[in-house]
Amino acid sequence: MIGAGFGGLGAAHALREAGITDVTVLERADAVGGVWRENTYPGAACDVPSPLYSWSWATNPDWSRRYSAQPEILSYIERTAADRGLLDLVRTGSTVTGLTWDGSCWRVTTTTGSYDADVVVAAVGQLSEPVVPDIAGAETFAGPAFHSAEWRHDVDLDGKRVAVIGTGASAVQLVPGIVDEVAAMTVFQRSAPYVVVRPDRRYSPLHHRLFRRFPAVLAAERRATYELTELFNRALEGTSLVKRPLMAAIKAVWRLHLRRGVPDPELRRRLVPDYPLGCKRLLFSNDWYPALARDHVDVVSERVTGIEPTGVRTADGRLHAVDVLIWGTGFAATDYLGRIDVRGVDDVSLRDVWADGARAHLGLTVPGFPNLFCVYGPNTNLGGSSIIQMLEAQAGWIAQVARGIADGRGPALAVRREVWLAYDEEMQSRLGSGIWSHCDSWYRDGARITTNWPGQVAEYQRRLARVDWAELERVG
Ligand SMILES: Cc1cc2nc3c(=O)[nH]c(=O)nc-3n(C[C@H](O)[C@H](O)[C@H](O)COP(=O)(O)OP(=O)(O)OC[C@H]3O[C@@H](n4cnc5c(N)ncnc54)[C@H](O)[C@@H]3O)c2cc1C
Repeated sequence: MIGAGFGGLGAAHALREAGITDVTVLERADAVGGVWRENTYPGAACDVPSPLYSWSWATNPDWSRRYSAQPEILSYIERTAADRGLLDLVRTGSTVTGLTWDGSCWRVTTTTGSYDADVVVAAVGQLSEPVVPDIAGAETFAGPAFHSAEWRHDVDLDGKRVAVIGTGASAVQLVPGIVDEVAAMTVFQRSAPYVVVRPDRRYSPLHHRLFRRFPAVLAAERRATYELTELFNRALEGTSLVKRPLMAAIKAVWRLHLRRGVPDPELRRRLVPDYPLGCKRLLFSNDWYPALARDHVDVVSERVTGIEPTGVRTADGRLHAVDVLIWGTGFAATDYLGRIDVRGVDDVSLRDVWADGARAHLGLTVPGFPNLFCVYGPNTNLGGSSIIQMLEAQAGWIAQVARGIADGRGPALAVRREVWLAYDEEMQSRLGSGIWSHCDSWYRDGARITTNWPGQVAEYQRRLARVDWAELERVG
């Protein structure tokens, strides 16, 4: 297993449930947790309610609120991993740099040594490599500059002039998180997001008692969230009948939210997105718009053209003087396994196979790369629901295949090329008629949308529930 986030730990759990016990999880960092270990910026929290944004096999009656903050999610992961004996499988400080198929097993090269593995599960995440755009002069900035996922807790923002570049999911959380502290803030916006009400609430002692005594109540909240998010997923599908009325309702909620949060009509105008609702991730926050409306906050929509020692230069020639620069510019989501040199049968490089965009059957597997499976691989991200559901479906499928290999279906299995091609064609054709094809976003790799799953979660779960062995062939 490569990676000890929700994906890798969940897959390790599934493998053990299937009776596969010789499992090692290689993690480059010094602890488990994945994005929830890395993203410690003020305000970091999940944007899918915790009863659904958690493992189905480790429900938690003790969430302090519906949208839990990062420290609570991280401690849930750590606690669950410890309770289930998964921590013992993890080798931290081991960065995987290469995977080579030697005809019968994978040679796994890491910064701390090499391993042989019958099966490799790459659970490296889609949002684990922070991206800072290539802007002229970025290295000349005189003050502290850091990415939202590499928060500098040693930098005191009190009384400082701060620039936040980007207005995606992280910025929408961190800007309200620091707005009270800073003397002035300039938010550089390339594209305005749709931000709607976050129906957050603190769970009362009564809730906790109910959740503990009657697990069905917690299960009901999980189910209700699931149904709501499925409705949204259906609306994102190109052909769905609920699309128009639901999108119109969400748009009305958004408009009201913007009007309430931002009294100034000129600023409001700048905060209107220029793309159809749903094309980029819909964001949830009750304090984003009020934060932008504060007197000491400025929203700049002019293009950033350069960074200078004292500030940020925009296309209109203005230099915005700041003391601290924060990149809220997201992650290399489409660069799957980009940092690992993966060599399959006949020394074929995965990078070459994916040269014009990553693709994997069911998001899991690629012909010529036997016994190598992805978790949170290509086309398995969601526009509006808990990713953990997708990771669990993948873990269950991988556990079945690993069990099959152990039981003599192997020793090496790979997806048939025609199955892989047909699946990719289906994905691209469905995505081509869907909402995400209408704008540029991090879901896209050139002409292809390589991150997102085009349907509902239920369909994906159904397709992965039982391995279709006819789709796989023996290799070697
Ligand atoms: C700030 C933030 C908020 C989010 N909120 C939500 C949300 O509310 N709802 C939702 O559904 N999703 C959310 N996500 C998406 C999130 O990525 C997934 O929900 C989920 O956590 C992914 O888990 P993962 O294990 O697949 O990946 P990750 O959590 O990214 O874990 C991957 C792990 O692999 C390790 N790794 C990477 N490369 C190597 C290597 N070469 N060798 C060894 N180890 C390696 C990394 O260090 C990391 O620990 C959020 C993401 C971010 C960044």
